[in-house]
Formats: sequence, structure tokens, C-alpha cells
Amino acid sequence: MTAAYGLAQPGAALAPLIDPFARAITYLRVSVTDRCDFRCVYCMPETMTFLPKAEVLSLEELERLCGVFIDLGVKRLRLTGGEPLVRRGVLELIRALGRRIGTGGLEELTLTTNGSQLTRFAGELAAAGVRRVNVSIDTLDPERFTRITRWGGLTRFSKGCGRQRLRDWRSKSIWSRSRASTTMHSMR
Ligand code: SF4
Repeated sequence: MTAAYGLAQPGAALAPLIDPFARAITYLRVSVTDRCDFRCVYCMPETMTFLPKAEVLSLEELERLCGVFIDLGVKRLRLTGGEPLVRRGVLELIRALGRRIGTGGLEELTLTTNGSQLTRFAGELAAAGVRRVNVSIDTLDPERFTRITRWGGLTRFSKGCGRQRLRDWRSKSIWSRSRASTTMHSMR
């Protein structure tokens, strides 16, 4: 039988999600867009055909869907893409989900990003309740970076990620010759 979540009455208790090994499902990754401002060679062709808008959940639908999962016991939510921060209006969704942190059943709201938009959005993300973002950079070599990402430039943020503090954020980085992986934590 298929559970008809859409028919649940507001406020009605829903059975928690349990996997086949009897473990509660408390972590969910949600892709908010298939679009990206990079064209990494290992990810998508340069002339990418994205899904038509009509086939992509609206921000309101995503909020509703995430809300149902939170009601079903999801405590940690990670937004991904594509690049989540290129979706127009995504901050509205992030703010709405951020309001569910604590009293609303959600414990953590995080983001995976290529970092390209982070200098622009870091303050608003922190204000919305995001306490951690993960940034993965394939290389610290500017030429190689452009070769890999095609459309990406090793921006000031990318170069400084992990060394240069963005307002309200501190970072933990794993650096190697070939790539950098950075987790940024909000200080709010
Ligand atoms: S940044 Fe991520 S989503 Fe964007 S093209 Fe590269 S691998 Fe794909």
C-alpha cells in the first residue's frame, strides 16, 4: 500500500520513516535545481539541456515536501543542486525551512555548494539558520580550475576559502595538492 502523505490532516501524527534494517531515517538531501553556473567536465556537457521548469518542483512544493519529511522524523536536511544558490528565490525556501529549526522538529539545515555565490549569500544564509555549508573545490590551480569547471573562475572566495574569514563564518578545510574541501560553520 502506498502511504498517502498528501491526505494527512495538518497536525496529524505521521508514522516515522524506517528503512528495511529498522533504522529511523533522519537525514535527507534535497536537490533544489539541476542548474549550475559551472560546467564541470565530469558532471555535465557544456551545452546542457536542463529540465523544463514545469517538471521541476516549485519552491512552495519543495517547502511542503520538506515539511512532510520533517513531520516524518527527518532532523537534518541538506540542500544541493546543481548549484542550489543559483535557483531564483531559493533564500525564501531556506528561510522557511530555517524557521523549522528547533521548535519545528528540524535540528540542522545545511548546504552543499560550489562556493561561487557564497560571498554574496553567506550573511543571509547564516541569518536564515544555516550553520554549516560544504564547499568542494577541485583544484587550487586557477588554470586547471577553469579547465575542469569550464565556466568557473577561481574566485577570490574560492582562493581564500578556508584561509580568509567571511563575516560570521569560520571554516575547517582539508587541503591537498589536487583539491580542497571546506566546511564552513556559521558563528551565530
Ligand atoms: S559545480 Fe557541481 S553541480 Fe555544478 S557542474 Fe560542477 S559538479 Fe556539477
